[in-house]
Amino acid sequence: MPSFDFEEQRIVKEIQRLNAKRVVLQMPQGLKPEAAKLAKLVEDAGAVAIISSDPCYGACDIALFEAESLGADLVLHFGHSKMVRDDNAHAIYIETHAKIDIESALQQALPLLIDYKTVGLTTSVQHITTLTSAKQFLETAGKAVLIGDGGQLAHAGQVIGCNYSNPKAVADQVDAFLFVGGGIFHALGIALGTGKPVIIADPYDSRAYSITDEAQKLLKHRYASIMAAKDAKTFGILIGVKPGQKHLDHALKAKAIAEKTGRTAYLMAGREITPDALMEFPQFDAYVNTACPRISLDAPGKFQKPILTVNEFMVLCGEISWNDMIRKGLFEN
Ligand code: SF4
Repeated sequence: MPSFDFEEQRIVKEIQRLNAKRVVLQMPQGLKPEAAKLAKLVEDAGAVAIISSDPCYGACDIALFEAESLGADLVLHFGHSKMVRDDNAHAIYIETHAKIDIESALQQALPLLIDYKTVGLTTSVQHITTLTSAKQFLETAGKAVLIGDGGQLAHAGQVIGCNYSNPKAVADQVDAFLFVGGGIFHALGIALGTGKPVIIADPYDSRAYSITDEAQKLLKHRYASIMAAKDAKTFGILIGVKPGQKHLDHALKAKAIAEKTGRTAYLMAGREITPDALMEFPQFDAYVNTACPRISLDAPGKFQKPILTVNEFMVLCGEISWNDMIRKGLFEN
């Protein structure tokens, strides 16, 4: 397990600057073992610390409701970059960069990049400070390197699970992408969003591998999900109420499309969209998910009914073609 930069000095300074008296600490799964240490830091800075025990999947999920309900004057959100703007709330994002060497994973990636002259470089926020050295490494190996900046995220080259605007900004100019980071979800998103080959350089396992076959497999599954919803008559349109997941406009659009094409659709809103929660609604034949796209893409097999993204639902309803959707992205608007 790597160590992380929790920016302790900044936390103390911000608590003092804001004169915060009660602070909610929120972090994703992998950082929860550090919660007590961080709470102690907050207490030593003179505030009451309250650790959020709920799951936290992304920057979209910032604990603003919880802070209000607990009378807290500051939320410290660890592990993600700033996404939700709320001028009424004091929320500080601590990006929590990983302190881990990436060079060995980059070495492993070079043979996989041999056929590609120009490489797009991307990463998650945990490794964002390594992009400059990764670029230099690739350039020394003879590659031309582009880091996209679509202007929507905190950093050039960064991707998050629901936003691939940075790689998309340079997709036309590169032969392949290199993603620096662990896990396959982000790299899959880059492959699906750009149609380019994607190599992962995983510094946690010091290895590199291609994600192209997985992307093809995922596309086949998504096509099967659309087909499985072909005869569905009644749809639940899912709205996420977490601050950065609320897309009521998308939900209303999906409902209008459903009704225009002779289907019935009802709006549903929730914090956690889980297979167990949806099992309570046997009247729905299928769902359209306007909240976090990971719900549809990560583990569709866990849901008993098809759970489509809005773009997939538009394919089902004949509003766009499958190829249009591939060009647009499975869930991007
Ligand atoms: S909506 Fe999903 S993918 Fe996007 S930031 Fe939130 S958890 Fe991550």
